[in-house]
Amino acid sequence: MKQYDYLIVGSGLFGAVFAHEMTKAGKKCLVIDKRNHAGGNIYCKEISGINVHWYGAHIFHTNDRKIWDYVNQFAEFNRYTNSPLANYKGHLYNLPFNMNTFYQLWGTKTPEEAKQKIREQIGGLKIKDPKNLEEQALLLVGTDIYEKFIKHYTEKQWGRKAIDLPAFIIKRLPIRFTYDNNYFDDTYQGIPIGGYNTIIELLLEGVETRLNTDFFEMRESYESLARKIVFTGKIDQFFDYKFGSLEYRSLHFESQTIDMSNYQGNAVINYTDKETSYTRIIEHKHFEFGSQPCTVITYEHPLNGTNGEPYYPINDEKNSVVLNRYKELAKQNEDIILGGRLGEYRYYDMHQVIASALNKVQLELQRGDK
Ligand code: FAD
Ligand code: UDP
Repeated sequence: MKQYDYLIVGSGLFGAVFAHEMTKAGKKCLVIDKRNHAGGNIYCKEISGINVHWYGAHIFHTNDRKIWDYVNQFAEFNRYTNSPLANYKGHLYNLPFNMNTFYQLWGTKTPEEAKQKIREQIGGLKIKDPKNLEEQALLLVGTDIYEKFIKHYTEKQWGRKAIDLPAFIIKRLPIRFTYDNNYFDDTYQGIPIGGYNTIIELLLEGVETRLNTDFFEMRESYESLARKIVFTGKIDQFFDYKFGSLEYRSLHFESQTIDMSNYQGNAVINYTDKETSYTRIIEHKHFEFGSQPCTVITYEHPLNGTNGEPYYPINDEKNSVVLNRYKELAKQNEDIILGGRLGEYRYYDMHQVIASALNKVQLELQRGDK
């Protein structure tokens, strides 16, 4: 008889939602995490009364009413709407690409004028079926926007040429012919008041959680504790890299506390030129409309995933081939559940991680009922 029903490796959003739901269903769960805090990448650290998004800016957004209601059980959300700016060679432009951006770039005032400008730029291109991020971006917004706001930001962020990246990445950004600077199209959006930690604390309430505990340091002994394993770390590492390593992109976060109340006037400013080595500066207090006398800012410096924490899967064809082999292997063992951004190797946002965890809980409970 095993001590636990589930050993859950990782206390990020996937692990915490899975543990919460299974505990509610009467299952015994043990959560372990190698970090010294729970929450994975949504963890916030309080500095001078400001909730600092310790692993980069996290804005919750979803179109799915069920997921919105789900997170609202654990926190109250504010009315924050993400409207980042792009700084290109010292000039500021609105994001995502919308009528404000087009006006700032070209002086076009009506949607028809802006569309005409983009049509002229796309007209000369011979792209029908976009095969990579560069082709996709050019086809959507034309050459000016691509050159100023996409090419260099993308190549810094991913450490490779835009022609070597999958097209879907750029489709995360809306393009609008209205004067609307909202970065997301989703119906629901906000920041949990008081930061994300409350959500994780409530999800993990009553769940045995051990921090500073790396699964791979005592793998066999941890595996022997539970009937099933839920793993939310790197899928290739879980299988001992037997089909080779998957590639990840990382970031180095450099934070500073500054003795002024307002540094940049916005939570997120992207630096889209080649000359600036970082991609974004985040000023955390603006997520919660803070009025503290000081401020905390974070520079995001892109980094190769082999030298840093694996934050972004690189879902190109080469990695997909390797991933599919690991997924096949995982399917053969019902006692292993791989979940989340790293466990499923998918460029998931928070709402998608929650949906995936709830889905897997449901499948598990149905399986158990049979
Ligand atoms: P994680 O949060 O990565 O949790 C995995 C956990 O597993 C970690 O705590 C890790 O320490 C632990 N772990 C791994 N290996 C082991 C091991 N061997 N032993 C023990 N523990 C282990 N989403 C949005 O919706 N909106 C945003 O604005 C947004 N911005 C983002 C900005 C950045 C810079 C990044 C990197 C991500 C962003 N996301 C955003 C995505 C969001 O962070 C993820 O969707 C979500 O947090 C992933 O949850 P997870 O549980 O899958 O993984
Ligand atoms: N992107 C860009 N310019 C920008 C913002 C985004 O070219 O000013 C591209 C870039 O390739 C980036 C992708 O769009 O990786 C997705 O952007 P998002 O803001 O969703 O990235 P994340 O917050 O996940 O890092």
